[in-house]
Amino acid sequence: MSLPLTRLVTFEQIVAARERIAPVVLRTSQVKSQALSGLVGHDVFLKREHHQVTGAFKLRGATNAVLCLDPAERAKGVTAASTGNHGRALSYAAQQAGSRAVICMSKLVPQNKVRAIEALGAEARIVGRSQDEAQAEVDRLVREEGMVEVPPFDRAEVIAGQGTIGLEMLQDAPEMDAVLVPLSGGGLIAGVALAIKTGSPKTKVIGVSMERGAAMIASLAAGRPTEVEELETLADSLGGGLGPNNRYTYEMVSKYVDETLTVSEQQIAAAIRFAYAEEGEVIEGAAAVGIAALVHHRYRPDGACCVLLSGKNIDMEVHRQLISGTHPAFGEGG
Ligand SMILES: *Cc1c(COP(=O)(O)O)cnc(C)c1O
Repeated sequence: MSLPLTRLVTFEQIVAARERIAPVVLRTSQVKSQALSGLVGHDVFLKREHHQVTGAFKLRGATNAVLCLDPAERAKGVTAASTGNHGRALSYAAQQAGSRAVICMSKLVPQNKVRAIEALGAEARIVGRSQDEAQAEVDRLVREEGMVEVPPFDRAEVIAGQGTIGLEMLQDAPEMDAVLVPLSGGGLIAGVALAIKTGSPKTKVIGVSMERGAAMIASLAAGRPTEVEELETLADSLGGGLGPNNRYTYEMVSKYVDETLTVSEQQIAAAIRFAYAEEGEVIEGAAAVGIAALVHHRYRPDGACCVLLSGKNIDMEVHRQLISGTHPAFGEGG
């Protein structure tokens, strides 16, 4: 194998992460989807990472990052400005490690999200009226109190933790033509692709984003990290940019990912409904993009493939509307 493996994150770091995080994270199952296999004409497997503790894969990277801290850092604690899956993951990971976590959020964050963070043992710090002001408080905690910021994707330990999913996918289905992975900041696909390309270089790694605000795909097209306008989308966990000083994910995605594509809101809506009706699985919009790509033949695999279902944290009222077909996403064109 003579892949130009990146100097930034190594396969060995992923292997080390697997052992490190095993006491905290679930080794999730991978099952064949009868319905998708029939539709596609090849075996389609579902990596059920939405069954992960805290409901999303981000627990792997957050746990690896927290467990890699030295004792002095762990005593100071960790911080982040995410109220979504990363905030939950970091709160839980810190609690498991006996460390402090401060999750910064703006006044506009709904009470149920604040309570979810607090229920996981973290301190929810409410500051300002925007994500930028919440981030400024994170920066202050790092500068003045010596806390460690654990970002959602652009950190070596986080990428290595997410990469452990790739090791499991290969173990459960070693002969895959392709894997389909949701793509936002790229921490998930960077780790998974490094694992897959090391263990099975001919398996293609396909990144899937939503049409509305696909920052990594716009960056790849521009040849450098680029910001895009953030738009409302069913795949809310895929929102946001690559950050002003991207160090890892842009380069790794450029290097390892074979192809990227986008799916529409209507296709995401249909995929959430498909997952529930055909597989009995509740998944969030970000997790549905791979199924959307296959159901709508946006991607046509030449052999067996695996779809990574990344999370299940969806507002259940929105989910109900999607299942019953009354959600506005079914009304739009596309
Ligand atoms: C964060 C997240 C993603 C995207 O991961 P990146 O590392 O930012 O590309 C996909 N699905 C879910 C459910 C997420 O929480």
